[in-house]
Amino acid sequence: MFIEQVNKRTLSDCHLLIVDDQASSRVILEGLLGDMVSCTSVSSGGTALAYCDENTPDLILMDVNMPGMNGHQVAKTLLENPSKSDIPIIFVTATTSDEAQSKCWDSGCVDFVTKPFNACTLRNRVKAHLNHKLKKDLLENLIYIDRLTGAYNRHYLEDYLPRFMKDGKRSHNSLSLVLFDVDYFKRYNDRYGHMEGDSCLWKLSKAVKDSLLRPMDKLVRVGGEEFLVILPCTDEEGAKLVADRILATVFNLDIAHADSNHARVTISAGIATKKPDDSKTIDFTMLRADKNLYAAKGQGRNCVVSSVETAHNVME
Ligand code: GH3
Ligand code: MG
Ligand code: MG
Repeated sequence: MFIEQVNKRTLSDCHLLIVDDQASSRVILEGLLGDMVSCTSVSSGGTALAYCDENTPDLILMDVNMPGMNGHQVAKTLLENPSKSDIPIIFVTATTSDEAQSKCWDSGCVDFVTKPFNACTLRNRVKAHLNHKLKKDLLENLIYIDRLTGAYNRHYLEDYLPRFMKDGKRSHNSLSLVLFDVDYFKRYNDRYGHMEGDSCLWKLSKAVKDSLLRPMDKLVRVGGEEFLVILPCTDEEGAKLVADRILATVFNLDIAHADSNHARVTISAGIATKKPDDSKTIDFTMLRADKNLYAAKGQGRNCVVSSVETAHNVME
């Protein structure tokens, strides 16, 4: 209802990452494709991974043979990362033996082109893969984004939370959850009307999304006026900092709510963290976050409760 009509991206909005140790190849590829898509070129596998930590290109054109990390190793590392594993990779290689070709497919590429390449074919291959990616993104957007708030929805949570959990285990990082709920929202609707209620959820959701600093942090609307923030690679102390910031963000929006304790819209939050060596299920972590949220409501609302504070009450 409030979010912009889904995904109006076209080819010219797409971003291509070119990975090649040879400057001349990078220049040729950029010259060939630069008018069609925006391009970034890097000269090594390591730089490509560092770039992908901060960005998510729509397509990667990757040289296979590079000093240091080769193209296969870069592809493997990206495939193991749940938030980067969907980036399509086209290998550009001068080695065309059957074995080399099989290795490219085994590394999870969507295609490969051989050097020296035909300019027209390369352009059209890149175009075809980007068009495919745009359609896939559009579909994912329709499936995973909540139309009212622009946050992720329950389908996303069900499909992606297990992936985040597995990745935390594999990389030996904690995964934290911040579950929050709008205080006295029924009263808000009763006083200001349902349309204003919807508008409030949209404003709140946008502000919280903007307050999340890392691209890997995700805001999910789990139902009604209840939201979950997924924080990969974050321990309980880190999650507490984020939750405090989210509470302050909502408080500072200063949306009038005459029937609430602070005369403005506030939220309460419960935190739970799954450590990498924790054998309990992710459902158990969710349950703990839920109990902590309930405790925050009991403590007067507009506050955060973490498992550290409620450990003595939690039934393990
Ligand atoms: P608490 O502080 O304990 O959370 O009280 P509350 O009133 O927020 O909690 P309760 O669960 O009793 O009510 C939640 C209300 O949220 C009920 C419903 O009117 C409102 N709500 C849920 N989803 C939507 C929505 O999509 N739009 C609007 N406008 N209101 C919604
Ligand atoms: Mg509520
Ligand atoms: Mg609720």
